[in-house]
Amino acid sequence: MCDHLVRVVTEDGQLRAAAADTTELVREICARQQTDLTATVALGRLLTGAALLGCLLKGSQRLALMIEGNGPLGRLMVETDADGSIRGKVQNPVAGLPPRGDRFDVAGAIGHAGFLHVIKDLGLKEPYRSLVQLQSSEVGEDLAWYLTHSEQVPSCVALGVELDAEGRVAAAGGFLVQALPPGDAKQLDLLESTLRELPPTTSLLRQGLTPERILQQVLGPQPLAVQQQTRLAFSCPCNREQIGNMLAGLGNDELSAMIAEQNGAEVNCDYCQETYHFSGAELEALHS
Ligand SMILES: [Zn+2]
Repeated sequence: MCDHLVRVVTEDGQLRAAAADTTELVREICARQQTDLTATVALGRLLTGAALLGCLLKGSQRLALMIEGNGPLGRLMVETDADGSIRGKVQNPVAGLPPRGDRFDVAGAIGHAGFLHVIKDLGLKEPYRSLVQLQSSEVGEDLAWYLTHSEQVPSCVALGVELDAEGRVAAAGGFLVQALPPGDAKQLDLLESTLRELPPTTSLLRQGLTPERILQQVLGPQPLAVQQQTRLAFSCPCNREQIGNMLAGLGNDELSAMIAEQNGAEVNCDYCQETYHFSGAELEALHS
């Protein structure tokens, strides 16, 4: 089954929810980023969180989530769009931290102090930007805090990445539940106590449950209306033209220096690790 996301509303219109299986894309992006185990779990959670928050995007709208903490991972950045294309990167892919008991030390790897930035390009003149302080640095709680306090939509977020004995991604996924206006936060409190009884999302995925079935387990017996299913996949929109524009933006002096020193340039995309080669003559053509 391909990675995908399902979005539903409860029949009484009080809650909206989304669940996602992100196993393949987390596997692929973490392989490209060469993350160690703790970094895989941290980046995998942020990728899953972006997929869930991205389910409300439309048309050419884009969403980016960035976490900047004082831990060894440095900056984590994830981007997605309305079509379910996702890319992500981490500044330092090796957290180098031992697990704490049976859990990976995601909060230690991200750092206990720092910010979650949310940037939405909704096709308006300026992108919407918001930032909140990290709460627990476990990613899911930080996203829930942002949604509840900054967007003022009471929300509960569960994100999971499970690794097998060899350290490969066995399952990744999560869900988001939001109280719709007039917004009865009590419903979410009730939900949170139900959630404590539920096995982790990744166990449900490993049992073969689809995102839709997971939402049924989370939301109980009430009827759900499926609003949308979106395929999720890693995709990097970088291209030669964009990289050329970036090089041109460095200015004529910098371009001349690159021609004189190496008769060309090599630019690596931080997201997909694609390398773009520009010859001296191609750099010459970028001069303004
Ligand atoms: Zn790229």
